[in-house]
Amino acid sequence: MSKLWYPMIDQDKCIGCMACYKMCRHGVYAINNDRPTVVNREGCVEGCHGCGNRCPEKAIVYSGDFKKMIKCSCNDD
Ligand code: SF4
Ligand code: SF4
Repeated sequence: MSKLWYPMIDQDKCIGCMACYKMCRHGVYAINNDRPTVVNREGCVEGCHGCGNRCPEKAIVYSGDFKKMIKCSCNDD
């Protein structure tokens, strides 16, 4: 079964600050053309928001983070 939880970068928002790349200790990111790129989805830790929390542009969302991805009032606590 393929990994469900991993980061996805909105390249239109990303400013290339590398905070996400520097934050992650699990080898999920590599640098490609001066931008962080997700190269190792399998390395990402289920439920971790570490890189997304560091992103100044809020350019990172997570596959599998349905509560954030689906904008529905049923998700409001
Ligand atoms: S969510 Fe955590 S483990 Fe996954 S890429 Fe970001 S910092 Fe690394
Ligand atoms: S932290 Fe956000 S803005 Fe900075 S490089 Fe990563 S995705 Fe781009």
